[in-house]
Amino acid sequence: MSTQKFDDSSVDVAVVGGSIAGCAIAIRFSQMGYRVAVFEKKAMTEQSYKQLCTHFVQPHTVPLLAEFGLDHLREPAWSVTTKAVFVTPGGVVETPGGYDPEQPDSYALNLERRVLDPAIREAARQQGVRYLDATSVESLEEDESGWTLDTRDRTGTQRFRARLVVAADGNRSRLAGLLGNPAESRPNERAALFGYFTGIEAPAGNRSVFIMNDRDLACSYPLVDGRTELVLFAEKSRVEGWRGPDGRLQEFLKYFDGLAEAPSVTHAVPESPLLGYSDYPSQIRQPVHGSVPFVGDAALSLDPMSGVGCGFALLSADLLARSFADRSLAGSDLREGLDEYRQRFEKTVLPHAEGICGDSLVDKDAATRQRMFETICGSRELSQKYLALTGRMLLPGEFQRAFMRGLMTRGSGAARK
Ligand SMILES: Cc1cc2nc3c(=O)[nH]c(=O)nc-3n(C[C@H](O)[C@H](O)[C@H](O)COP(=O)(O)OP(=O)(O)OC[C@H]3O[C@@H](n4cnc5c(N)ncnc54)[C@H](O)[C@@H]3O)c2cc1C
Repeated sequence: MSTQKFDDSSVDVAVVGGSIAGCAIAIRFSQMGYRVAVFEKKAMTEQSYKQLCTHFVQPHTVPLLAEFGLDHLREPAWSVTTKAVFVTPGGVVETPGGYDPEQPDSYALNLERRVLDPAIREAARQQGVRYLDATSVESLEEDESGWTLDTRDRTGTQRFRARLVVAADGNRSRLAGLLGNPAESRPNERAALFGYFTGIEAPAGNRSVFIMNDRDLACSYPLVDGRTELVLFAEKSRVEGWRGPDGRLQEFLKYFDGLAEAPSVTHAVPESPLLGYSDYPSQIRQPVHGSVPFVGDAALSLDPMSGVGCGFALLSADLLARSFADRSLAGSDLREGLDEYRQRFEKTVLPHAEGICGDSLVDKDAATRQRMFETICGSRELSQKYLALTGRMLLPGEFQRAFMRGLMTRGSGAARK
């Protein structure tokens, strides 16, 4: 653990980026007894949060919240406990049953960033992390005993020393640019639009509904205080013509109104302007470059339609922390810890990327898709495995093996008829 004496400009771990991934890894290194500073370039108030996020927290992430002192966010005051219902071209895929608080990985959460972001920053502060907002890391240099970081804040430039630097600076990672860890970019053929509404009745059991309509995905998420978030991931050409704030909102609501399986929007009252993006490619980087680990979006930023980014930010921080549980931050311990993190990341997180990047493409083969979902919907086992895959409880390889078995069973059943 921490063996040296430090002044204010010297820390064990310097985390660059103070959003979810940065705060999460800072909390865990601080729990291990290290002196940790987070550098966040934006000026933050207590309420600051990331607005461009639709905050569906997948089942695999829910048990992880406790590891970061955030278990209370599962309570109804802070989030909505939910399960996914997929309306597919081959039928409906739905998780049966209610909510068992003793089994936190059996449900998802609609946990808004306006709640999560202040909570994780507060958890970091409570844990003794030094959080320096309005402070950007401008350059860094490594020598035999660690790192020198040059930062810029409201008052000018400052120099810090750290034994380990963690890159948690998001998908445009400045650190990746400085250190030479380029992203492999994968196209995303959909645009996204989303907004918050009152006047929409939540479906029974507070289910979050995902409707595959043509090649679009229309989602509705019940939120606390009776609000609903509607999200549309659509072929770019479809939304391009939706012009002007009012025109866009009208077209957006008309779209949901035309979906028989969506909650009724007849009495929907907008609570916010529509947000979104027109292009958001996936970005994949090495999880370790030299002696710098990358966590969260800095390592892997995938199509938001998959709803995995918040969870993977926490998961990657957890994997990195576990890799250093019994190791120091120096010499062979450091190298072995980083190597273990890389391996854990490649085994646990990376396998999800290929399928998600494939789903970002708007392929036109509707018949194949329909057959695929008919096979899934026709088997209880496959339906459950599909839900486990999308909740990131199951690796894609395992789902594919089950799917092939399902196809063969279907084929032999059809042949017998
Ligand atoms: C429209 C949309 C919808 C989404 N929906 C979901 C969803 O439903 N579920 C889900 O799980 N995920 C979703 N995501 C993804 C999720 O928002 C991200 O994956 C998550 O915010 C990543 O967190 P992070 O901490 O890794 O990075 P970020 O949140 O990007 O944080 C990086 C931080 O680093 C700071 N920084 C950058 N450079 C420097 C520097 N040089 N010095 C200091 N600080 C720096 C930035 O200011 C920023 O605060 C969505 C994303 C989008 C765009």
